[in-house]
Amino acid sequence: MAPAIQITTRGGLSLQESNHSMTQSFQKVRALTGMKDVLPDSSAQWEALEATVREWLASYGYRNMRTPVLEHTRLFTRGIGEVTDIVEKEMYTFVDALNNEQLTMRPEFTAGMVRAAIEHNMLYDRPHRVYTMGPVFRHERPQRGRYRQFHQIDVEALGFAGPDVDAELIVMLARLWKLLGLKDIRLELNSLGQGDERAAHRAALIVYLEKHKDVLDEEAQRRLYTNPLRVLDTKNPAMQEMANNAPRLFDFLGSESLAHFDGVCERLHDAGIEYRLNPRLVRGLDYYNLTVFEWVTDRLGAQGTVCGGGRYDGLIELVGGKPAPAVGFAIGVERLLDLCSQSGDQAAPPECQIYMIHQGPEAQRLAAQLAEPLRDAGLNVIVHAGSAGFKSQFKRADASGATVAVIIGAEEIAAQAASVKWLRAQSGEDQPQQETIAFERLVTELKLKV
Ligand code: ATP
Ligand code: MG
Repeated sequence: MAPAIQITTRGGLSLQESNHSMTQSFQKVRALTGMKDVLPDSSAQWEALEATVREWLASYGYRNMRTPVLEHTRLFTRGIGEVTDIVEKEMYTFVDALNNEQLTMRPEFTAGMVRAAIEHNMLYDRPHRVYTMGPVFRHERPQRGRYRQFHQIDVEALGFAGPDVDAELIVMLARLWKLLGLKDIRLELNSLGQGDERAAHRAALIVYLEKHKDVLDEEAQRRLYTNPLRVLDTKNPAMQEMANNAPRLFDFLGSESLAHFDGVCERLHDAGIEYRLNPRLVRGLDYYNLTVFEWVTDRLGAQGTVCGGGRYDGLIELVGGKPAPAVGFAIGVERLLDLCSQSGDQAAPPECQIYMIHQGPEAQRLAAQLAEPLRDAGLNVIVHAGSAGFKSQFKRADASGATVAVIIGAEEIAAQAASVKWLRAQSGEDQPQQETIAFERLVTELKLKV
């Protein structure tokens, strides 16, 4: 496997060179292609989503765990599979020059979560419902819904054989879409059966693909014998008809696999969740068996898969653990937020509730002191930093989205009372209110009124 990039951890600039470059004008640095900054106005949307997600996961007994961004490359080549898009061409892999280790920035969470569960003997005496969220990295061609650093909410049920837990995960997701007010998101379901069923299907599939060699693109030709199932996952329009008519893995499933699938379907029916059986759904990673699913929408253009998951009973053993079944899914956060922003009110929340304006050094220090007990009372307060005229401080107060401005100047100090100005008219009033509140009453009054 050729690493997507080569870097060394030491910059390699000699002192002389670096001194030389410092005397030249500094070339503006921009974020890397496909890696996005989240600025404060949109960060509010991220935080709101994360808060909803944590509560939602807790309501099903899922607990958070966190794994490192960097792992040994072999975890992913082994876990995800050599002949997959991710391992073949999307991984940020490099040699750590400090100790010559080959490392990879995680391109997904499951392999690392499983590695951690094995390393810490988590599955020794009981199964675990766990989740994590954070950035993952894939060297892809950037476009809407496809970035090089993106974020996933990753949920894993480790040590559960299903099908009850498979269904629980899907039902959970339906609840999340409801919590977020999302519509137009649908479920596609398939079963990948077990190893022997896939082997029988694979043989039939290879015969079929050999017959249609003329329509296979270069990638498909290469995968014909290494990973023929993935050939069916093609996005190449010229290969769709061929893929549609290929032997279906679903038709090779034996009674046990079908019973597992039926078990999932029954429970989805109980929960009133509609799905479409998509026999072409194979998912881009090698570790799946039995249940696989995706939640898809038409509202995001070409990148319409918001969430993908499935059962991976073989992975834990494959990466060195005692055999144990497992099932999980990953949600693409950027795609989910894109979808949320189409169906909700996106006004950025205020920076604070109270903006404190002051005039003169003494008033400035007093404002800082008065702000602390307000914060003790649970109010969010910004004290204007530095000194400026009343007018420009007012402008800032207004732009902050605060409910009230608290004004402290020489008069207020003399009267030991702050001028409090409502920045927006309350319902039923023509004009925003203004009043004077004694310093000692400030916390009690503002707590009631703001
Ligand atoms: P795709 O077919 O879109 O490439 P995938 O099968 O590679 O998706 P998974 O590995 O299943 O994706 O990742 C889970 C989810 O993460 C996807 O359903 C999607 O929402 C999101 N995702 C995957 N790749 C990217 C990316 N490059 N940028 C943003 N989100 C992504
Ligand atoms: Mg992909």
